[in-house]
Amino acid sequence: MIQRDKFFINGQWVAPAAREAIEVHNAGTGQVMGTVPAGTEKDIDAAVSAARAALEGWSATPAARRAEYLQKISDGLKARAAELGSTIAQEVGMPIKLAGRIQAGLPIANFANYARILGSFVFEQRNGNSLIVREPVGVVGAITPWNYPLHQIALKAAPALAAGCTVVLKPSEIAPFNAFILAEVIEAAGLPKGVFNLVTGFGPAAGEALVKHPLVDMISFTGSTRAGKRISELAAQSVKRVALELGGKSASVILDDADLAAAVKGTVSGCYLNSGQTCTALTRMLVPESLYQEASKIAVETAKGFTLGDPMSEATRLGPLSSRMQLERVRGYIKKGIDEGAELLTGGADQPEGLAGETRGGYFVKPTVFGRVKNSMTIAQEEIFGPVLSIIPYKDEEEAVRIANDSPYGLAGAVWGKDEQHAQKVARRIRAGQVDVNGGAFNMNAPFGGFKQSGHGREAGVYGLEEFLEYKSLQLKG
Ligand code: NAD
Repeated sequence: MIQRDKFFINGQWVAPAAREAIEVHNAGTGQVMGTVPAGTEKDIDAAVSAARAALEGWSATPAARRAEYLQKISDGLKARAAELGSTIAQEVGMPIKLAGRIQAGLPIANFANYARILGSFVFEQRNGNSLIVREPVGVVGAITPWNYPLHQIALKAAPALAAGCTVVLKPSEIAPFNAFILAEVIEAAGLPKGVFNLVTGFGPAAGEALVKHPLVDMISFTGSTRAGKRISELAAQSVKRVALELGGKSASVILDDADLAAAVKGTVSGCYLNSGQTCTALTRMLVPESLYQEASKIAVETAKGFTLGDPMSEATRLGPLSSRMQLERVRGYIKKGIDEGAELLTGGADQPEGLAGETRGGYFVKPTVFGRVKNSMTIAQEEIFGPVLSIIPYKDEEEAVRIANDSPYGLAGAVWGKDEQHAQKVARRIRAGQVDVNGGAFNMNAPFGGFKQSGHGREAGVYGLEEFLEYKSLQLKG
């Protein structure tokens, strides 16, 4: 059992104002793996006051010195990479091998990347008689989800600290332990007190207190569109800057000249990563009617190859979902898909067979593929956040683009085609923040974020740093 009973505020581990604790469950077994404190308005106020007091000193710290701290944090996380991977594999359910590479690896890389970016970032520039200065926006409230918990924290904390902002982090109550490891690493790196603060708690209590706090200048949020809308409304009361990274319902458009096997396998893998709990998951596979039968066959075969089981086993390819609520939600969507007339090609809403021992209590869903899905169906419109692929046949390219864009979301997408130039042309027509062409690799320096109800603002690389800066113009006489 992991028992965390203190917050990290003003460089110290302090007792929470109230005694309520939140139970955190192991996704692979369903059992309680530990507790964290449920923060209140009082705890948030203490953390924000500390961040406000630290702002002047931190923002005046030379960028090169801030970079040294960021590199130290990256090194500190690296020294605890195995512990991070295993903690997140249990909190979230991602298979341990992948969790090590992605869940621990990306935050380590991102902190180091912002140390590097600070080496060349231009904070001041002359423009005519003006000196244009880029200043930190101020105190940043970071509110993060559970699916890539430390990665999403790093994408906010690292650039915010690089920019000279101070931070109050309210991580997800479903996967919070990794955030405590980060706070310990930051403490060991010797960051000045109050520069980074951690308060755990529920969204409507601790989260909303942070959003409403008058001394917070900006909220950077990743999570559901539902919570993003609520946060925008609350933040508007004090005209806070808000960056939102929300949900997605991304289309993978397979053109008729594509390498079909590679395209289908790439799409299924892009859909099932982290058991489908990935905001950029390729959940709608669009295939030409003439290739539908063959594409469906390959999709089913690929789905069946996703060996389901204990996330702590190296043989597992598909782990559980992260919580009971998520399990029920995803099963509900599968039933809805069947009710609305989609063809269940493999998988389904019932409990998978073959689970042994403690994993019987885990939150597992069978890898599921639906065929002959209409884009108007609920399973094609709403974010499921589970291993559920919808195959949608189309008659021509115009229709494919129309279907891809017929979504309230616009986070990501993919296009597959032998004629790379043509595939790029189609990719440009998709209204989404990032579109992979022929399985192009994830690039941590490329801007990440959404169109439409997937949010606004961009994270990662230099674009992520710019989110946390204000422009100031000094009009000079000479
Ligand atoms: P969620 O919105 O329920 O919770 C996210 C965070 O917001 C948690 O820390 C939660 O405590 C807090 N929160 C909830 N309600 C709040 C409120 N009223 N005020 C303030 N804070 C509040 O989302 P989740 O279930 O943790 O995460 C899954 C969602 O996140 C999915 O929709 C997914 O697509 C999205 N997501 C988006 C991205 C992206 O970059 N676009 C990345 C990962 C996840």
